[in-house]
Amino acid sequence: MLGTVVAVFGRRYDVRTDDGENLDCVARGKKHDAACGDRVEVQSTGPRQAVIEKVLPRTTYLERADAFKRKAIAANADQVLVLVAADPWFSDEFVIRILLLTQAADIPALIALNKIDLPGAAEARARLKVFESAGHEVVEISAKGTHPVGCSALAPKLAGRCTVLVGQSGMGKSSLVNALAPDAKARMGELSVALGTGKHTTTFSRLYRIDADTTLIDCPGMQEVGIHNLTFKQLQQGFNEFAPYLGRCRFSNCRHDREPECALRAAVEAGRIDKRRFDLFCTLRSEIAA
Ligand code: GDP
Ligand code: ZN
Repeated sequence: MLGTVVAVFGRRYDVRTDDGENLDCVARGKKHDAACGDRVEVQSTGPRQAVIEKVLPRTTYLERADAFKRKAIAANADQVLVLVAADPWFSDEFVIRILLLTQAADIPALIALNKIDLPGAAEARARLKVFESAGHEVVEISAKGTHPVGCSALAPKLAGRCTVLVGQSGMGKSSLVNALAPDAKARMGELSVALGTGKHTTTFSRLYRIDADTTLIDCPGMQEVGIHNLTFKQLQQGFNEFAPYLGRCRFSNCRHDREPECALRAAVEAGRIDKRRFDLFCTLRSEIAA
């Protein structure tokens, strides 16, 4: 039987078969870790229970990694929607980490700015310019309530695709899922305490079907977006504005750290590259091996 992984709870999976049945599954063997969005072959083991025998080849695979292991985010996604909000303050670092991962996975990403009804909207909009100039479209929305704003402009961008929705908690992800997939009855979370305390919440990713060929994968619990799986080259490429200076340092393998005659650091000192962006790059660099 073939099906799609529609939810992941650790090593347990909800698989919706192509016949429309929901099965509670485990994976056979450690090697067969499945991700939300995966197409799988399952073998029934009991009433509504099955084993995932095989994960079918993926069109795309989005993952993150800390120093110890890689973690699946989603499989077979066509694009990633990064959700930020006018309030609370979103983290540039979070956004750039996600964009680095999507770029490495060769998946296009767009950004949605939520809560444009709030006073922080203008500042948030200004902070998103740098991502916009790197080629990421920014769609403005207000997802809350019975009359969401901007979702009619967003919907056609999602139609016919599988979109991974990521965002820090509090940005309005549950509200957006509710607006886009009202039947899905996304749980409306309170602003997570996890964001403030650094604690993890027990979360799981879930695939929502908006219509026959439009799906949304919600990935909660992305407080930590490790990029240990990326190469130094991929990190550099994530900073568009560095491009004119790359390859101009004295050493071809320059990490733009303390090497002499570093063209990138010279550009920062001359004010041609934003110092905060360079500092962010340095922070991320410490996670990257080669
Ligand atoms: P999540 O943690 O990302 O799932 O965020 P929620 O959807 O739970 O939203 C967090 C808070 O922001 C809730 O109190 C929502 O009511 C509120 N919120 C969500 N969207 C909007 C919006 O467009 N405007 C305003 N003012 N508040 C919103
Ligand atoms: Zn350099």
